[in-house]
Amino acid sequence: MDKIIKSIATNGAFRAYVLDCTETVKTAQEKHQTLSSSTVALGRTLIANLILAANQKGESKVTLKIIGNSSFGHIISVADTHGNVKGYIQNPGVDIKKTATGEVLVGPFMGQGHFVVITDYGTGKPYTSTTPLISGEIGEDFAYYLTESEQTPSAVGLNVLLDEEDKVKVAGGFMLQALPGASEEDIKRYEERIQNMPAISRLLASDNHIDALLDAIYGEDDYKRLSEESVRFHCDCSKERFKLALLSLAKDDLIAMKDEDHGAEITCQFCNEHYHFSEKDLEEIINDKAE
Ligand SMILES: [Zn+2]
Repeated sequence: MDKIIKSIATNGAFRAYVLDCTETVKTAQEKHQTLSSSTVALGRTLIANLILAANQKGESKVTLKIIGNSSFGHIISVADTHGNVKGYIQNPGVDIKKTATGEVLVGPFMGQGHFVVITDYGTGKPYTSTTPLISGEIGEDFAYYLTESEQTPSAVGLNVLLDEEDKVKVAGGFMLQALPGASEEDIKRYEERIQNMPAISRLLASDNHIDALLDAIYGEDDYKRLSEESVRFHCDCSKERFKLALLSLAKDDLIAMKDEDHGAEITCQFCNEHYHFSEKDLEEIINDKAE
């Protein structure tokens, strides 16, 4: 089961979230049939989105849009405060690796663009915040967003490790933030530790990876776990929802769908689920509209 663990340094100067998102990213890969680079880019986005949503309280929803100008196109995801995340990448077929090391490349295929966060507190007035992409690697872009937009010095790691067949082996990440009580000395110590941290993919590949990550972040410093919550890839689409979308179309269009196309096929872009509306279904929608 995937999870997010919230923790705080005992001296109150830092807090960290640590995530295991292996099943979440595996599900995303299966649903969207993504190739290597697209899998890693979408996976990092989903992990970042789960962190952003975990920062919110109540019934909030956070939409993360990574708008690039290169091969990936846009990556869009939505997460809520209950650990649900869904998302897609415009081009699932990017598959580029360094020949020598086999390292999957991401940044160059994101290109230049924006990191856009839309937070909906359920009030109907969503709040949008945007920062430019720094490297297109998504992790660095996310850290820049947190530091600039939320004015909180932050370090993040977003990691998706693939196996020999480019299937998701392990995925997860962390976010470390300095709190107002952190002294310059504290910050320097943590910065050095994060810089010298073992590769996250190596930490995640170990059996007790959550503990390994927390220990790597806090080192000699004492910390306590505040909470542990499950996270998952979950799309909230349904035939009923798409029926409402069809209801908003013009009546003539619906009649054309029924009489000329003899039905409608709708695919959810977030999860690739297909919904079929028969002539009879469309007839009902047309009648509902007439009332
Ligand atoms: Zn869906």
